[in-house]
Amino acid sequence: FPLTSGEEQRIPEEKLLVVTVATKETDGFKRFFRSAKHLNYTVKVLGEGEKWKSGDYMSAPGGGQKVRLLKAALEEMTDGDKIILFIDSYDVVFASGPKELLKKFQQARHKVVFSSESLIWPDRHLEDKHPHVVEGNRFLGSGGFIGYLPNIKEMVSDWTGEDNDSDQLFFTKIYIDPVKRKSTNITLDSKCRLFQNLHGALDEVVLKFEDGRVRARNVLYDTLPVVIHGNGPTKINYLGNYIPNTWTFEMGCTVCHKDLHPLSEYPLVAIGIFIQQPTPFVGVFFERLLKLQYPKHRLKLFISNQEAHHEGQISSFLKDHGSLYQEVKLVGPEEEMDPPASRNLGVDMCRKDKHCDYFFLLDIDVVLENENTLQILIQQNLPIVAPMITRVGRLWSNFWGALSADGYYARSEDYVDIVQGRRVGVWNVPYVSSVFLVKASLLRAELSDYELFTSTLLDPDMAYCHNVRSKVSQRKHQEYLTCCESFLQEVFMYVTNMQTFGRILSTENYQMSHLHNDLWQIFENPVDWQKRYIHENYTLIMKDKLIETPCPDVYWFPIFSDVACDHIVEEMEHFGRWSGGNTTDARIQGGYENVPTIDIHMNQINFEKEWQKFLLEYIAPITEKMYPGYYTKFELAFVVRYKPDEQPSLRPHHDASTFTINVALNQVGRDYQGGGCRFLRYDCSVDAPRKGWTLLHPGRLTHYHEGLPTTAGVRYIAVSFVDP
Ligand code: UDP
Repeated sequence: FPLTSGEEQRIPEEKLLVVTVATKETDGFKRFFRSAKHLNYTVKVLGEGEKWKSGDYMSAPGGGQKVRLLKAALEEMTDGDKIILFIDSYDVVFASGPKELLKKFQQARHKVVFSSESLIWPDRHLEDKHPHVVEGNRFLGSGGFIGYLPNIKEMVSDWTGEDNDSDQLFFTKIYIDPVKRKSTNITLDSKCRLFQNLHGALDEVVLKFEDGRVRARNVLYDTLPVVIHGNGPTKINYLGNYIPNTWTFEMGCTVCHKDLHPLSEYPLVAIGIFIQQPTPFVGVFFERLLKLQYPKHRLKLFISNQEAHHEGQISSFLKDHGSLYQEVKLVGPEEEMDPPASRNLGVDMCRKDKHCDYFFLLDIDVVLENENTLQILIQQNLPIVAPMITRVGRLWSNFWGALSADGYYARSEDYVDIVQGRRVGVWNVPYVSSVFLVKASLLRAELSDYELFTSTLLDPDMAYCHNVRSKVSQRKHQEYLTCCESFLQEVFMYVTNMQTFGRILSTENYQMSHLHNDLWQIFENPVDWQKRYIHENYTLIMKDKLIETPCPDVYWFPIFSDVACDHIVEEMEHFGRWSGGNTTDARIQGGYENVPTIDIHMNQINFEKEWQKFLLEYIAPITEKMYPGYYTKFELAFVVRYKPDEQPSLRPHHDASTFTINVALNQVGRDYQGGGCRFLRYDCSVDAPRKGWTLLHPGRLTHYHEGLPTTAGVRYIAVSFVDP
């Protein structure tokens, strides 16, 4: 054999056997096995199908079952040169191959090398008995060790413990006994050259990208551990999304296109819609739900609404479209169900229906713009998967990249890159919320606990994720005869940013005092406000030269959507206090109006700040182009009503403005007859105003003008004076 630097013979790779315990093929085990296979390890799995009786880190220390199984397995092995690597598998990935592992083992110059920990567990009183180390961790971790078969056999031969005794305590007692330590020849991998336990060490470890593969670097000891173990409450965290080659800069995600589920037929999905606070754009939410690309007869709706304010929108949606869906269940505010209870009930609608294949949770503040979302998620074929959504312009999203040691939010080093789309993939994460898809088979097995969303400490989504990640379930259901059998749930949650899906609304500062409250959302939810209220051709007007010039220096272009026009008119009529059309007007400076109209000022409905914002965002860029040098400062804004039997027209006049913006809020020929605006100097009229289009014209001097008579129906315009 080639010699290592220490003149020692290199251990051939075929001498190495990886031994682990996995009573169930959990998602974590699959991840472990994928990394082992990728790096050509030979793995022997013990305990398959056995009941786990060994507890978990949350309750009493356990793990004895692993030692029992190891002891039995080793008894059958005889090759004295064999090297055994015994490791956990649910929260372990390999970062490098057998060659490096064996080399580092040899360099440790002991027959058995244990992983190390900075925190002592489970018996703090043993601290003084631990040998001191010059640098690195002082305590033993039983989640990973490597050694020669005879030495390991010797170590476990004493085992007579119960399955729920602590393996860590057992090995610790051997290690702190100077005689045993010496006879078995044990040392600790104190500087994490072989094993990285993440418990208590999250801050020590960062990703290291190499050519075509990824490792973890321990920055405290400057080592590149071979085995990464997310022990205790840490789990493996985001490192598992990369190591050893799950995501690389060269290839992107290497597993995201595997195991895709072709959609030959449509699984039955129960969509749970949850309305827990007053929310803007609820009408739009249901319009979008209707457009979701999925056969409606394969969808069931569970709608839980805790807001009386939204009852009208829901009942009108259900009246018009409810019958398209296979089943609809509505829980209204009168039932006074709290958020966890309503989520538990929604999930149960799917769990209890044996035909239900998926549960899709969808909160009302989610703007799911991608109409194919449901199909995309189903094709991912994952236990729980969320489409990544973010709050516009913020780093706020519906997932967490990592967990803090105490189980709350921690920012992973890749979080910002994922949120901003610089790293694209399907990411295993410890927390998803607001919108996600769950396989119904899980709800009937690992997640059969009815109160998944219930907790005395955590909000419903945190409780849910906590339960999915790591809960030891106490099965108390009557159908299970053994009371309170505990089992460890190991279900992975994913978030995908392979496509763009949508965003989360802000529900802050939502006023409910108006008829169309969404009109007031220009500050809080500007993207949704624009989509709803700005004309679809507005963004094209500069590029495609959509600005028309019907009369000299008079510009004409689309600005408002039909919905915006209707909402403004309805809001004004709802308010109803139209001016009398007199020359005395207490609302304006000086109290005298020479050419009065029947109108309502924007400030009368508390809309002046929003209107100003609208003018600045959408009108100012155009006026600055058409009348350069005029800084757009707005003086007065109001809606005018023309009616044959009230005030049908306005006599020739100058406006109290340098220039004027005049938006037609309804449609000639349909809503009214006549109307329009005539500029006398040019004898030029705009007599077929288009709904949602605005005129922009000088207010005085050359543009003396009149409002032409409305001969039937009612005409509305929104007028703003600009006087820099
Ligand atoms: N294990 C198992 N079945 C179980 C729970 C655990 O086979 O139901 C095995 C598995 O190899 C796992 C190891 O025991 O990695 C240790 O469990 P866990 O990861 O919960 O312990 P920790 O590493 O957090 O101490």
